[in-house]
Amino acid sequence: MGATEEAFITPAIPMDFTYNYRIGLYMTRYLEGFKERKIMGSRCSGCRKIAVPPRKYCGVCNKIMDEFVELPQEGTLENFTVGHVVLEKGRLNPAENPYLLGLVRLDENASLLLARVEGLDPAEARPGMRVKAVWKDQVEGDYGDLDHFAPA
Ligand SMILES: [Zn+2]
Repeated sequence: MGATEEAFITPAIPMDFTYNYRIGLYMTRYLEGFKERKIMGSRCSGCRKIAVPPRKYCGVCNKIMDEFVELPQEGTLENFTVGHVVLEKGRLNPAENPYLLGLVRLDENASLLLARVEGLDPAEARPGMRVKAVWKDQVEGDYGDLDHFAPA
């Protein structure tokens, strides 16, 4: 190794195990919505901002967000990053192709939702692009039901 090269390691994180945890009322409502291909958020009783996924307390004014609202299926790609590795059973492996991970703001000015964006060359992605939700053919109330976003 020359003086200008840096050493690196590939850490193996042993996360290949099953476990259970309570997701709470708000995430339950979110995933129940997925069964009907609905994206649910919660609206703040104080500042009226909408959190997606829904949460109990507003991150802006700390008031209780006790109103559940259905959000539109379309929004704006606010920002993104391009992934080149995938985490598989605790190991980082090279991705087959570079992929887009986007921050999507659904219409009605909800909070940002992190999601994979497909159908768009990462080199062509720009903030402000319109995107829409794409669901799996079979939905079952699972995180993976909302498969990705695609150009609208
Ligand atoms: Zn608020």
